[in-house]
Amino acid sequence: MQIGCHVSISGSIDKAVDNAVERECSAFQIFTRNPRGWHAKELSEEDIKNFKDKLKASKIDQFATCAHMPYLPNLSSPKPDGFEKSVKSLVEEVERCGKLGIPYLVTHLGSHLGTGEEEGIKRLVKALTTAGQVKNDVMILLENTAGQKNSVGSDFKQLGEIFKQLKPAKKFGVCLDTCHAFVSGYDLRTEKGVKDTFKEFEKHVGMENLKILHLNDAKGEIGCNLDRHYHIGLGNIGEEGMTAVIKLISKKKIPIVLETPIDDTRDDFENVRIVKELV
Ligand SMILES: [Zn+2]
Ligand SMILES: [Zn+2]
Repeated sequence: MQIGCHVSISGSIDKAVDNAVERECSAFQIFTRNPRGWHAKELSEEDIKNFKDKLKASKIDQFATCAHMPYLPNLSSPKPDGFEKSVKSLVEEVERCGKLGIPYLVTHLGSHLGTGEEEGIKRLVKALTTAGQVKNDVMILLENTAGQKNSVGSDFKQLGEIFKQLKPAKKFGVCLDTCHAFVSGYDLRTEKGVKDTFKEFEKHVGMENLKILHLNDAKGEIGCNLDRHYHIGLGNIGEEGMTAVIKLISKKKIPIVLETPIDDTRDDFENVRIVKELV
């Protein structure tokens, strides 16, 4: 089983590996830069070397690492300058991941801001296709959404339809978030529910395209569209469902990454440990 959590790069990017090792992770996710701004400071040769050296020295497989896009870009934006900046940011991140040897970049699908799904998807596909031209081995992973207003891709059928439009195909994959799936209506609370959900996923997207699993329990109820992650087993998905997901995913050797909160109830050290205990 490859399992870990999102870790901070605070201080310098190689600190992410220390943070992952400390938490006994065998997989991890980072932001390659401050996720709250548009500007990304260029990675120096030294940053890159330190990150790669530390990763090599750890027992973590390079293919169990991923980066997440920053928060501000909106790949479905109807505003021309906002769209352009977002595409530029996506291209930049694909390049940064390539330099760091990170194989996967997870991205949200953006918001069409009320202009309709069809137009939003057109822009999204254009943005992704542009970034797909970057010549390196980084794969862009589309993350299923929680089904918030003006978003697309919470429904596996629609996610699959978007995914199939992307070329070259080898540059694209999918990241499934369990919290997002649950709050958009997929019942992950029981073993049967999990089985049925992944059957749907297989039908529309294909398990071979699933490269990273975001394992999060949900604060909200099924179908509520609320993107609020919760501690593993303590949310509305619960222990039975989480356990069934972990078993199914680790059998397929897909890296599992937690994006759970850090609060008085638990921190990420504990959530990582609990996932290992559940199987
Ligand atoms: Zn995400
Ligand atoms: Zn989320």
